[in-house]
Amino acid sequence: MTSAMRSASRDDLRVAIIGAGPAGMYAAEALLASDHCQNARVDVIDRLPTPFGLVRYGVAPDHVSIRSVRDTLDRILDRPGIRFLGGVHVDDGTRGIPLDLLRASYDAVVLTYGASTDRSLAIPGEDLAGSISATEFVRWYTGHPDSRPDEFTSLLSRASRIAVIGVGNVAVDVVRILAKTRAELEHTDMPEHVLAALEESAVREIYLMGRRGPAEAAWTTKELRELGELADASVRVDPRDIVLGPSSAALVADSKVAARNTAVIDQWVNQEAAHCSRTIHVRFFTKPVRLEGGAHGVESVVVERTEISESGSVSGTGEFETIPIDVVIRSVGYRGIELPGVPFDVQRGVVPNDQGRVLGPNGPIRGLYTSGWIKRGPSGIIGTNKKDAVETIKALLEDLDAGHLPRRRDDSDPTSVITGPVVDTQGWRRIDEAEKELGAQRSRSRTTIHDREAALRVGAPRD
Ligand code: NAP
Repeated sequence: MTSAMRSASRDDLRVAIIGAGPAGMYAAEALLASDHCQNARVDVIDRLPTPFGLVRYGVAPDHVSIRSVRDTLDRILDRPGIRFLGGVHVDDGTRGIPLDLLRASYDAVVLTYGASTDRSLAIPGEDLAGSISATEFVRWYTGHPDSRPDEFTSLLSRASRIAVIGVGNVAVDVVRILAKTRAELEHTDMPEHVLAALEESAVREIYLMGRRGPAEAAWTTKELRELGELADASVRVDPRDIVLGPSSAALVADSKVAARNTAVIDQWVNQEAAHCSRTIHVRFFTKPVRLEGGAHGVESVVVERTEISESGSVSGTGEFETIPIDVVIRSVGYRGIELPGVPFDVQRGVVPNDQGRVLGPNGPIRGLYTSGWIKRGPSGIIGTNKKDAVETIKALLEDLDAGHLPRRRDDSDPTSVITGPVVDTQGWRRIDEAEKELGAQRSRSRTTIHDREAALRVGAPRD
């Protein structure tokens, strides 16, 4: 072995993790907790100035206890051997740091950059103004640096009727945030411009639409139930939507979640309608077939009634309805995007892998791994990423022990290849403090700093 080319052992392993969301943080934790890896060094790199990905910019701000996972993830950053490097964009070198350069500088690279875009609805009119993705909307209300503060202010001030398409947990989050009063959101870490725009919003009628029935909905019961507990919004369900066919009834008999979900929906059908400022119309067996409108934006959504066959397949019944609407929020799932130079399964929106080993045309690519949503697709709860990370790190360490990792270039600090406005762990701690101070000024525990430049200024290295 030449002195310039080093084969790593567990004791001097250097790993770069691309993406500092839960998947990346859990991968770092799993590595440092592995036998004989206490001296390994892990750099967790993110294009954003702040760590924790969807825990900051996905989990709804009013879900305070889920958001507190942030504290658990933050404690991982306290461990010796781990560094956060924020504000670092990795690609093929076109705009950011080339992945190949990182691969040459570290013993292994783990891709944990998640699923940052949205699945398409693939219906005519989807691109009309006023048809927005839940991904964009969630980014805006969580204060993501990629969203403009005024992005939805004017739209919300004009939209009295909103359709939210999809019946997963993201759709429930979006509906709840739209339907809550200022008092119900005041304590959250939402930026002030978001609170103000939601307070000023003209929203009165919200249509939450699922193409299948209540038994098949993707949401979880706790999240669903919250829709019925809002201060100034009532829920309506059409009684014909709770009639279950044989395949749905079998699902309810088999699945506790489906049984609990349908029980919540049944209860809403039977409850007395309360007089509230906002109404949430939960509609099942309702498939959007096109959005209609003009240059000024969407005006209506045309839906077709569906039915579920005995075998469980869904088909249209030919019964159409046009629902006047001002805004459509498409919440039909996230989707991973391709990192140039890395194999990508376009169909599934994931990096092809075997237990976390990235697969190229000729089998595993040495030294390249993946975990989280970009490995398995956008599903599961935050904790699912922990188990996923353990599997990937196990594969990485097996390869290391078997001498299958490529040799890294040399012993110099691999971050010497990283240029640009880097926010390190100390920088993140300063941003964290600044957010807490901003929150304290408004009697909240924290207010998210949404402005990228402001975050970079606070987080920039100090000599
Ligand atoms: P999801 O759970 O996959 O739900 C997507 C929804 O979109 C489903 O109802 C699906 O219906 C519907 N859909 C897909 N394509 C459609 C189409 N062409 N037309 C109409 N409807 C369509 O996705 P998500 O809500 O984005 O959530 C992603 C993950 O994050 C999930 O694992 C979720 O549990 C998790 N999450 C959890 C929380 C929480 O725990 N509080 C909060 C937010 C997100 P079909 O089933 O008929 O395809």
